[in-house]
Amino acid sequence: MSVQSKLIKAGHLIDMDDIIREGNPTLRAVAADVSFPLSDEDILLGEKMMQFLKHSQDPVMAEKLGLRGGVGLAAPQLDISKRIIAVLVPNPEDEEGNPPKEAYSLQEVMYNPKIVSHSVQDAALADGEGCLSVDRLVEGYVVRHSRVTVEYFDKNGEKHKIKLKGYNSIVVQHEIDHTNGVMFYDRINEKNPFAIKEGMLIIE
Ligand SMILES: [Zn+2]
Repeated sequence: MSVQSKLIKAGHLIDMDDIIREGNPTLRAVAADVSFPLSDEDILLGEKMMQFLKHSQDPVMAEKLGLRGGVGLAAPQLDISKRIIAVLVPNPEDEEGNPPKEAYSLQEVMYNPKIVSHSVQDAALADGEGCLSVDRLVEGYVVRHSRVTVEYFDKNGEKHKIKLKGYNSIVVQHEIDHTNGVMFYDRINEKNPFAIKEGMLIIE
């Protein structure tokens, strides 16, 4: 049975054992485009990936399944070399601890996502980045585009074009990188991990 048919079984919940780690060559491969109309298998995989992210952010399910929290997942991390990513970025609670009006600032499964334009300005997260496929702390600024325009297809085959900035922009670039065989630490300055390029935005 293929990896994908195992993962999309009705009773299967994706957990950390399904996620491959650095050193696995699939993480260094350029993934293949999916074709449209999407197969049921590719639609189901996208749904399972989003379900994983929800579980990973839910304290009860995360504990039960032993999940690390995540805001994005790319199919190559499941050893499936296809251009499919899921992103789920929660909005913070307000100062009194009440839930936000909109639960998520970004919630999408993207098929064949592509950066079609980007700002000249670079940006990096102040606290660096992590990855479900990397079981170690890698410190340093991960230099990315500050703003990107991304084209992708949804599960119905409809094309979308969205503009992203701030944290959402970083998350989507991290996941698109996975479909191109790029790891986040490839973008850290080797000699000086905390070097700030002129004009680079540091996102707190
Ligand atoms: Zn990652």
